[in-house]
Amino acid sequence: MKIENYTLEGKMLPIFTYPEPVLTQVAKPVEVFDSKLETLVRDMLYTMYHAPGIGLAAPQIGESLRLFVVDVDYDRDEVELKNGETEMEFSNLNPMVFINPVFTKKTGSTVFKEGCLSVPEVYEEVTRSELVTVEYQDLKGNKLTLEADELLSICLQHENDHLDGIVFIDRLSPLKKKFFKTKLIKEKKRI
Ligand SMILES: [Zn+2]
Repeated sequence: MKIENYTLEGKMLPIFTYPEPVLTQVAKPVEVFDSKLETLVRDMLYTMYHAPGIGLAAPQIGESLRLFVVDVDYDRDEVELKNGETEMEFSNLNPMVFINPVFTKKTGSTVFKEGCLSVPEVYEEVTRSELVTVEYQDLKGNKLTLEADELLSICLQHENDHLDGIVFIDRLSPLKKKFFKTKLIKEKKRI
């Protein structure tokens, strides 16, 4: 659902990276639709825009809950201020939130080079369904349905995987998957 009257406010949340356990767990359904949930969604959107990314799932910020935010439409430009400093300017914002999403239909297949804020510096082609129908809830708990294609369809599938403890490298061939997982675990140990 598109969030109406959205203003880019919130705080930057820490983004968890693989292999943090929260990223490999199956997340729990959202049961309480209150102002705490609204604040979480607002902060997740703020974090997504500033990271920057086109989607962010709750497990990526350490909350094992079945929800994610998405915006595949926005533009982000660096603008120079009068004092010589720069800041980010955002336009065409189209923030969406999907709570307790379930795919009821998936058809076709498409390949896209994906990346992930929780899997830094890895970009690989992943095969996904081309068209999806998703049932989900909005911030008030209302049940809605959306059909998606192109980048939005890919993004919804990528984010939904996070709710099932799946990162996109799990979708690669066994050899590539092993290679990236070993690499990411090694890099993590170095820090
Ligand atoms: Zn991701």
